[in-house]
Amino acid sequence: MRPGARLILCLTAFQIGWVPGRIGTESAMSPRHAQFTGLVASLDATAFERLQAAVNERRCRERIGIGTLDEAAAQYRPNPSCPSCGSNPFKDGRTPAGRQRFVCSGCNLRFSALSGTVLEFCKKDLATWASFITMMCYNAPLDLTAEICDIAHSTAFEWRHRVFNTVDDYQDRLKLRDKIWIDETYVPDSSSLRGQTGNRSGAFQKSRSA
Ligand SMILES: [Zn+2]
Repeated sequence: MRPGARLILCLTAFQIGWVPGRIGTESAMSPRHAQFTGLVASLDATAFERLQAAVNERRCRERIGIGTLDEAAAQYRPNPSCPSCGSNPFKDGRTPAGRQRFVCSGCNLRFSALSGTVLEFCKKDLATWASFITMMCYNAPLDLTAEICDIAHSTAFEWRHRVFNTVDDYQDRLKLRDKIWIDETYVPDSSSLRGQTGNRSGAFQKSRSA
C-alpha cells in the first residue's frame, strides 16, 4: 500500500472514532501470538519481504494448488513445443532464473515452458498473478487492482491485456448444447425443438407454416 493511501486510511479511521484494538474477539494476546509478533517485529526489511513472499506462496498453493511459476510450468506445460515453429524441443540446461530451458530441434530457438504464455517475462510471483486475476473476475478498476496487488498502473494495464489476449478466442472453442440461458434469453437446442420459436419471456409457440 502506498504511503499516501495508508495515511488516508489512518485519518479516516480516527475521524470515525475507531480505536485500534477494540475490534476483535480476543483482547488479550496469547503467548504464542506474542512470540510470532516479536519475531516478525525483529526482522529487517529484506527478511520481512522474504517472509511475506513465503507466506503468499503458501497461501497461493493452498488456494489454487500451485505456489510458484515453476510449479505452474511443470504442471501445465511439462513438455512444451516450440512457440515459434511448433517443433519438439530437447532440454538445454537452465535459464538465469533457474527454470528448465529448451532448445528447438527445428529452428534452434531457446525458450522456457513459460515462453509464449501470459506469464512470460513476469518478475512478480504467482501469488500476485492469482490476486490480479481475482480482481479482474470482480471487474475491479485498474487503479484499485494495481493498489491491492502492489504493482504499477502500467504493469496492471499490460497484464490485463495479456489476460484478454489469452482468453480472446476461448469462447470460439466452446460448443453449446441442450438448453442455454444467455442474457435472460431462453435459447432451445434447435434439434430438439424444431418448428418452435421463442421470445424473451421464455414462452414458446408453434411457428406457423407459410
Ligand atoms: Zn522452433
